[in-house]
Amino acid sequence: MLYVDGKWVEDGQVAVDPEDRGYNFGDGIYEVVRIYKGRMYQWDGHLTRLFRSAKEIKMELPWSHEELTDLANQLIAKNNITENDDASLYLQVSRGASPRVHDIPSGIKPVIMGFVRSKDRPVADMKKGWTAQLVEDIRWLRCDIKTLNLLGAVLVKQYAKDAGAQESILHRNGVITECSASNLFVVKNGELYTHQADNLILHGITRQVVIDLARDNGITVHEEAFDIAFLQQADEVFLTSTTAEIMPLISVDGAAVGNGHPGPVILKLQDLFEQHINTSVLV
Ligand code: PLP
Repeated sequence: MLYVDGKWVEDGQVAVDPEDRGYNFGDGIYEVVRIYKGRMYQWDGHLTRLFRSAKEIKMELPWSHEELTDLANQLIAKNNITENDDASLYLQVSRGASPRVHDIPSGIKPVIMGFVRSKDRPVADMKKGWTAQLVEDIRWLRCDIKTLNLLGAVLVKQYAKDAGAQESILHRNGVITECSASNLFVVKNGELYTHQADNLILHGITRQVVIDLARDNGITVHEEAFDIAFLQQADEVFLTSTTAEIMPLISVDGAAVGNGHPGPVILKLQDLFEQHINTSVLV
C-alpha cells in the first residue's frame, strides 16, 4: 500500500501527473527512514531535515510534524510491518503539478508520496566491507538539500560500478566530500575525520549519530575537509547511511585500506551503533 497525494493506493496502481514538477525537474525532496523491529529510528532527525530541505527550496509543507508522524505509522501498519521486521520508509514531496515553466508557479500544492519496503540490515556486508573508487564530485553546490534531483549521484555511483567498485568516494579538486549516497569517515591514529556539514555534503542522520557516539566514548572527531593523499594514508575508512549503517571500505582504487579488513575503530563504532539501535526509543 502506498500513500499518494491524500489517497491509499495499491502497488502498480499509482498515476503520476505528467506535469508533476518532481517528475519533470526533480523539483522536490525526500527522506529514507530506517525501521528496526517495526518502529522508526531517528524519526525526529528525518522530519527536521525534511522541513529544512523544504525551506531551502522555497516550498511550504502544509502538514504538521504530528500529521507526518501519523502518516508514517499508518504506512508501517498498512504494510504489515511488525516487530519482527526491519524495513525502510520512503517519503517524498514534489512541488506539485502545473504547466511546465522553470520558475516556481504560485498557488501550487505539494504532492506527498510514501511507501515502505522490507529491508534487512546489511550484516554480512558490514563484517566484510565494500570496495570504493575515487570519482570526481560532479554534483551541484547544494548537496545539503535532500532533493529528488539525483542524476549526479546516479552517475558517480555508476562510474564506480563500471570501475569494478561497490561505492564511489567523491572529491572536488582533490578534496574529499562524501559518497554517492552516504557520508565518508577516515580514521587516522585513532581519531575520526569527516567533511564539515556545509553545502557540499548531505548532513547525514547516521553521520551525526556516529559523531555523537564517538565523542561520548572518548574518540576525537574532526569535522574538517581533507584531501586524497590523507585518505590514501588512512588507517581505516568507512561510510555511513541510514540503510548501510557503518560500512567499512576495505580498498580505494584497488589499493587495500590498512590490512584490507575492517579495523578496530570501525568494529568499536559498529558495536556502539548496534547498542544505540537497541536502546533508542523508536517511534
Ligand atoms: N550523503 C548522501 C549524498 C546521501 O544520499 C545520503 C543518504 O541518502 C547520506 C549522505 C546519508 O544520510 P543518512 O545517514 O541521513 O541516511
